[in-house]
Amino acid sequence: MADHASDCELCALARTTRWYAQYREPFAFTILDCDSCDTPMAVLGEHRAAISEEERAVMTGALRHLADALAMCDPDDLWFDDKMRQIPDHYHVHLRRRPSWCRTVKS
Ligand SMILES: [Zn+2]
Ligand SMILES: [Zn+2]
Repeated sequence: MADHASDCELCALARTTRWYAQYREPFAFTILDCDSCDTPMAVLGEHRAAISEEERAVMTGALRHLADALAMCDPDDLWFDDKMRQIPDHYHVHLRRRPSWCRTVKS
């Protein structure tokens, strides 16, 4: 099993969008704005689709922390979308909002 796919855009992770954080511990992943959805997502630092519950909890926890920091909306309105439609073989999870319940507050 290859740990890196040369044609995988999540392995390449071009800096075309805003990057929020790069984690090394307890494992490598990056939080950045998704190119296609314009919403923050966490991308696993290695090329695999399956992750453990613990790993998912760390990544979604980091996204929740980011949402807090950005004051995106009421935390209850956030949910994590890890149905990987476009790139099914490299784990990533989107931070999404329930639009009808959430108003972005700009200070
Ligand atoms: Zn990949
Ligand atoms: Zn996306």
